[in-house]
Amino acid sequence: MSSIRGDNLPNARDARYVKFSWNSASDVPSIGELDYVPRTQAFRMFAEGRFTGQRLIAFPAQKRREALHALGCCAYCGRANDQHGFALPLTSEHVIAEALGCGLELPQASCFDCQRVTSEFERSVTEEMFDPVRRSLNLVGKQGVLQKKNFALDVGAETSEFVMISDIHHPTLLTLPGLYPPSACSYRPMNTNGIFNILTYNINCRRQDLDKYEITRFSTQIIDTARFCQMIAKIAHVACMGVHGRGAFKPLVADFIRTSLPPKTPSSAHFNFVGRLWQEKSEESSNLHEVEIGEISWKRATFISARVRLFASHGMPSYHVIVGE
Ligand SMILES: [Zn+2]
Repeated sequence: MSSIRGDNLPNARDARYVKFSWNSASDVPSIGELDYVPRTQAFRMFAEGRFTGQRLIAFPAQKRREALHALGCCAYCGRANDQHGFALPLTSEHVIAEALGCGLELPQASCFDCQRVTSEFERSVTEEMFDPVRRSLNLVGKQGVLQKKNFALDVGAETSEFVMISDIHHPTLLTLPGLYPPSACSYRPMNTNGIFNILTYNINCRRQDLDKYEITRFSTQIIDTARFCQMIAKIAHVACMGVHGRGAFKPLVADFIRTSLPPKTPSSAHFNFVGRLWQEKSEESSNLHEVEIGEISWKRATFISARVRLFASHGMPSYHVIVGE
């Protein structure tokens, strides 16, 4: 049966890593269409907060180089000086990883230690989830369009088993996780794991290519939910720091973002501040990506928040992040 699977973990609902396996190519959405899997799961709705947008930052398909006002301290640990009182060297942070075709930067915004952690999860998420997509959509990264010619396709079932396929025949599906609302602004319990579904947009997965390689069963890219949430939280946090400025709010995801989560480390706090508000309607968009700064009101509290929508032009949904209070 086609299903969500957790890699090497007995219970997919508690897994940090998830993927969706198709046992038949006929279940894959048609080229140019977005679908979600599995379809069988009962929807469990949690009461959730409401997002109000205030400022939209659009990322067009054509990469644009822009910079926000320099921050002047590390966006994650808050330091501007080292323990001896000397100014820390601070590097510029991309709001959305440059590998995803984005050129908006927040200058002087990360210390060396924090930069090491953020670049590690950005590298692994963009490579593992989006490499074939980056190539087929011609996204312009630091070194231009990705030059890689062969991409892995997971043909294993419970465990992963990769075959390498050239970009001409690689069945490329854009894959994103469908998340429950963040625990901090819904009745979803804190520190719980599990995703709702997996969204796939068929860029160029063709039946004849699968037949050519005699592939009957294959999976989406593996989603590392912990690092994926770190990446989404980072985008929201950096955008809010850039727009609201230093010291304007008490950060709630900065520590999560700068926590190193090496592969296989158990994680359960990553859905506390990152998720999807289901009451929100996704409008059609021509932007490649979008970040909208705003607020989420939940019960009697109002949080500094951001809506992050990757691949908006492909109909993908928004994620909402509780950034600060
Ligand atoms: Zn730092």
